[in-house]
Amino acid sequence: APAPPPARHLFSDPAEIEALRGNLLAWYDRCKRDLPWRALAATEPDANRRGYAVWVSEVMLQQTQVATVIDYYNRWMQKWPTLQALAQASLEEVNELWAGLGYYSRGKRLQEAARKVVSKLAGRMPRTAEDLQKLLPGVGRYTAGAIASISYGQATGVVDGNVIRVLCRLRCIGADSSSPAVIDRLWDMANVLVDSSRPGDFNQALMELGATVCVPKAPLCGECPVKPHCQAWRRKLFGNRPPVPDVEDCGVGDCPLCPPATEPWDSSLGVTNFPRKAAKKPPRAMRTATCVLERRGCHGAPEYLIVQRPSSGLLAGLWEFPSLLLAQDLQEEKEREELADHLQAWMGRPVAAKGLQFIGEVIHIFSHIHQTYVVYSLHVDGDVTLDPALSPSRWVTEDEFHASAVSTAMKKV
Ligand code: SF4
Repeated sequence: APAPPPARHLFSDPAEIEALRGNLLAWYDRCKRDLPWRALAATEPDANRRGYAVWVSEVMLQQTQVATVIDYYNRWMQKWPTLQALAQASLEEVNELWAGLGYYSRGKRLQEAARKVVSKLAGRMPRTAEDLQKLLPGVGRYTAGAIASISYGQATGVVDGNVIRVLCRLRCIGADSSSPAVIDRLWDMANVLVDSSRPGDFNQALMELGATVCVPKAPLCGECPVKPHCQAWRRKLFGNRPPVPDVEDCGVGDCPLCPPATEPWDSSLGVTNFPRKAAKKPPRAMRTATCVLERRGCHGAPEYLIVQRPSSGLLAGLWEFPSLLLAQDLQEEKEREELADHLQAWMGRPVAAKGLQFIGEVIHIFSHIHQTYVVYSLHVDGDVTLDPALSPSRWVTEDEFHASAVSTAMKKV
């Protein structure tokens, strides 16, 4: 077993833990944001629906800002107010509602898990973090802890990006915060700190603190309710006035939670010395040619051809303009020719590369991909018979396009 970390990185004094809980919860009661899922979790008598509502909100909030999520959440809960309603929806409907929220597999997995609750668990949500994680596909440790504590009052901690930041600052943890060793310690800490009488509120308070006060770049330490317990704050205050042993690192090089000896405390950064992460891999560059095929529809309005992506991989099952992944460093002429060949399959007749009109380039950043869409357009006369042996495809008006399950990147195109 790894050696226990030095005491300064832990919460071990019961009086301090009590005081921190009290300060944090009092602040939360005064300052918490009004969010629709919070209102529902606090007032809904049906335990299944409470768990479902928190689950939907937590999945939407992964990788997405609260302000964006609110509208999606409200529309989702209006359309599928219960697990049973969601279980009956089609994947196409789920993708349509999710369009624009990003990370599309989240919606798909949520619906698959809802189907499992209905078909295999007699419609009853599991009530503990352990069961939620074990029984629901796609529900990880964080989401399970959030649902169990907020909806069912289980005294279990949660660790998300906001909590990582707050805890690393509270306890001057400067080792790589994405490493398993640090993450394990943070989970231990979250489980020690959580208030057993109000676990859901405590967890939400800790996350809210990270989202609104202990923010990444310019934390509002002056307004922070847990400042008296914050070692990063103490170090910023006293760090330049030695000797103050309890604000120093534990010892050069041998503490698994202190900053590495090669990257010591930088007084110009203050509390934002924490947390620290290993450098991310740069995103992979991809180049895709895409063609907006346009025809005059039967009522005279323009229509556009969209085709469905494969059911797995990036943007699975979403619709897009006919597109072709290009090799890097192709000459423009060659790109055009390859796209023309690709379109021929859709059109069922030769397409002249010269007929493709270059419109421009659109850049879209996915989490790990830097995607450049090279956009062309082509007007089509007469009817085009779509080959049913190819991926599903259809002609849509502009309004229909926007109501379809298309990604933000395609809307940019
Ligand atoms: Fe974060 Fe500052 Fe509060 Fe410490 S005092 S927890 S750094 S906001």
